[in-house]
Amino acid sequence: MRGALGGPGVLLRRLREVMAASISPQERLDRLVVLIAGNLVAEVCSVYVLREDGSLELYATEGLNREAVHLTTMRAGEGLVGLIASEAEPLALSDAQAHPSFSYRPETGEEVYRSFLGVPILRGGAVMGVLVIQNRASRIYSDEETETLQTTAMLMAEMIAAGGLKSLAAPGASIGLDRPIHGVGVSLADGVGLGHVVLHEPRVAITNLIAENPATEVGRLEAAIGEMRASIDELVERGDVAHTGEHRDVLETFRMFAHDQGWLRRMREVVLTGLTAEAAVERVQSDTRAKMLRQTDPYLRERLHDLDDLANRLLRTLVGKANGVPREKLPENAIVVARSMGPAALLDYDRSHLRGLVLEEGGPTSHIAIVARALGIPAVGEVANATALVEAGDAIIVDGQAGEVQIRPQPDVENAYKDKARLRARKQKQYAKLKELPSVTKDGAAITLQINAGLIVDMPNIEATAASGIGLFRTELQFMVAQHMPTTAEQQALYTAVLDAAEDRPVTFRTLDIGGDKVLPYMERVEEENPALGWRAIRIGLDKPRLLRAQLRALLRAGAARDLRIMLPMVATTDEFRRARVILRREQAMLEKQGVAPPRLLKVGVMVEVPSLLFELPEITREADFLSIGTNDLMQFLFAADRENKRVADRFDPLGVGALRALRRIVEAASETGCAVTVCGEMGGKPLETMALIGLGYRGFSMSAASIGPVKAMLRALDARKLTERMDWMLASPEGATSLRPQLAAFAAEFKVPV
Ligand code: PEP
Ligand code: MG
Repeated sequence: MRGALGGPGVLLRRLREVMAASISPQERLDRLVVLIAGNLVAEVCSVYVLREDGSLELYATEGLNREAVHLTTMRAGEGLVGLIASEAEPLALSDAQAHPSFSYRPETGEEVYRSFLGVPILRGGAVMGVLVIQNRASRIYSDEETETLQTTAMLMAEMIAAGGLKSLAAPGASIGLDRPIHGVGVSLADGVGLGHVVLHEPRVAITNLIAENPATEVGRLEAAIGEMRASIDELVERGDVAHTGEHRDVLETFRMFAHDQGWLRRMREVVLTGLTAEAAVERVQSDTRAKMLRQTDPYLRERLHDLDDLANRLLRTLVGKANGVPREKLPENAIVVARSMGPAALLDYDRSHLRGLVLEEGGPTSHIAIVARALGIPAVGEVANATALVEAGDAIIVDGQAGEVQIRPQPDVENAYKDKARLRARKQKQYAKLKELPSVTKDGAAITLQINAGLIVDMPNIEATAASGIGLFRTELQFMVAQHMPTTAEQQALYTAVLDAAEDRPVTFRTLDIGGDKVLPYMERVEEENPALGWRAIRIGLDKPRLLRAQLRALLRAGAARDLRIMLPMVATTDEFRRARVILRREQAMLEKQGVAPPRLLKVGVMVEVPSLLFELPEITREADFLSIGTNDLMQFLFAADRENKRVADRFDPLGVGALRALRRIVEAASETGCAVTVCGEMGGKPLETMALIGLGYRGFSMSAASIGPVKAMLRALDARKLTERMDWMLASPEGATSLRPQLAAFAAEFKVPV
């Protein structure tokens, strides 16, 4: 019977001697492969290392032709070695040549070997190379042998990561560790940031990989597991988390994993191969990460994060605290890289040194994205495995506009981004010059420009942009970034602070727009088939008025003896508006009885974002004090195209004939009854789209602070009357065009309107 000679423990101890010997890196690798081949009774043992260009280079071999070392390379996905690297899974074959991926390299002389066992060299779930053994005879490799080979692969991974092999690369090639990576994710916050990586959760450094005494290591592992379980049980039992809803589910799942026998058994098995307890935790987690990263199921990916958390807890117990940078003491030009992050953690970082944010999770509507946008920090989310692909201090570029990151960029890439950043800065300077100039079109039409906001950190943007006020204050943001439901007093404190910061400028507070994609972590989640069409916003407010009433009270108290503007979201019928106004009047009467001064001026308006309201325009424009068009939702409902679904979100053009006619109807109806109307959806912050809206007759917009400059530059160059004439004609006879975008762009080009 074949099998490992002397067991894995003996092998590891001998490997350790080789690692400690003062010999050259190549000699070290050469000795390691001899030892591994001998211990596993294989005729061949070879190490392939991932290069910067994604190919795998033979770095050392026992058994194959030595001349092939640093000459033979396999492209990504090519041959069995390439297959292992791309799948990140071990592969054991008793007849390798029969495998469809087998690729024969004459210089290696491997044609005589039938059986093959290869494992990925993994670190943090990222592939760094491949370790292979081969035998002449047809042979079935045991699980134990695969396990031993994986354990030795971990040592190789640490050698590669420590930089010991850099000097060995073939001329002109360099090791994959330093390779530039172009990561693609989704844009969370616009802007370009260049800097160096700061890991939000620094890795626990494991220096001691090989056990002196396996029994002691098993004991250490057991003790750490016991400690971890106790702390999680305590977390679950503690009274300060909500006892219902998703929060509790998450913790329960966490507890389930902490007691998961399969996971714990894997770690024990690995300790028994001769690794220290911490090295075993790291190895099992790296394998799990590599496997799960290749899953597309969001549920499984979520579970990976639970396991990552647990593994980190174990590592911290075993090794002590990781050495990170204190959040308030960031180095210059820091780009924070994290798996996920709460909004509060982002606010802890020193703003003046923070140049960007990269997350493995976090969609554009996540709370962290909202806060990053408010702070003006370029941010990219959904970058797979980002934390494992970088080392602290690596050069990195965040392109929040394109939703991309460049890790360890080549000089030409870096220069291109530097140019891009410079260009943006120059434009910002030009926009800043416009700040003091009036917001009027060339032919004298005054246009009101306000900003959208939702957090107190947004407030300095009023001054910075010289906006005339806040046209949309999304009150749900306070609820979304909080750990618990904000009390009425907390709400009132925020609204007062906002009104104070805005000084005399108007602020339009939108009542809670929750439900749909806006989920509050501490509230019980109602499962709905179509949440965007479900129980949300004003619908919740009318059905469960306690929340709405508390908010209205907070607003009325903050707005006592001041101007107060309240806006209701997702109103579908005039009747909903009437009912909400009754609730408001009741609260107002109650507060007045308590001696609270009424607002100096109270305006109550509605968001126009549900198409049904377009068919009640005579009523709603007469009864509401103002309308504000939420084009984000209005377009999604008008076209029945989910704004969060990448496949359809951009399918229909808001500059299409149908959408523009709908928007024209609203502004015409409003002007007939003298009802004020503005646009607060994103359409109103894009220069070409805003130009079209001015052409339709709109004169007020509320947009993200960053849009004010470009929109102002556009409108100051625009002859609104001429555009209206042109658009009347375009809309009357579109001549087969479904979108007017090309004609509008041509108009802008003809009259030199910057869009
Ligand atoms: C909109 O729908 O256009 C809008 C401004 O509101 P929100 O994006 O918050 O839904
Ligand atoms: Mg909306």
